[in-house]
Amino acid sequence: MNKLLRSFLLVMLVASCRGDRVKIVDKPIDFSPERVRLTKEYIRQHYGLEVQDITITPKIIVLHWIETNDLEEAFNILKPDTIQYGGIVAGAGKLNVSAHFLVDRDGTIYRLMPETRMARHVIGLNYYSIGVENVGGAGGVDNMTPEQIEANARLVRYLVKKYPTIQYLIGHYEYTRMEHTPLWLERDSTYRTVKTDPSEAFMQAVRERVSDLHLRKP
Ligand SMILES: [Zn+2]
Repeated sequence: MNKLLRSFLLVMLVASCRGDRVKIVDKPIDFSPERVRLTKEYIRQHYGLEVQDITITPKIIVLHWIETNDLEEAFNILKPDTIQYGGIVAGAGKLNVSAHFLVDRDGTIYRLMPETRMARHVIGLNYYSIGVENVGGAGGVDNMTPEQIEANARLVRYLVKKYPTIQYLIGHYEYTRMEHTPLWLERDSTYRTVKTDPSEAFMQAVRERVSDLHLRKP
């Protein structure tokens, strides 16, 4: 093997070990014109912005777990245009919750919607963030798998490379620590939920794997 070929192969090997390539499976949720309309309404009601479309500039990646250990059950929560249950979140608008990605327990990454459309997954920060849900966390128990840790790290790397505007990597449980930043837009100071997902241990493991990207914590 000549020297040039050997160094080329070495570069390719390093690139693939660093997870620069990522396999993404498209599995779209419903996104009718009604969901677009409800998203605009949410942006107006919660963020005080009049927008022509629901395109976002990603500045934050928010990692979650969805509190069910079943992929199809998780998908079916996010699929409909409108929210299917009651409670504080439903009280704040009919727009269903969603996320851009859903990572299964074996590490398979599903893309649920276009990456730069606004999804509803975190109070205050939806307009600037890409949401990644993980299947798991039923009963609030940290059962994230090693495959999910690796997949989330690969996905973060893919997103940061594609969107250089991304500055922050946060866990959902950290979201209220973003209130002091200009990226926080929620106008209702009483609209807050307490979150523990996707656990401190999971965030630490993912952050270790992407430390070279120098993403900010809240
Ligand atoms: Zn969450």
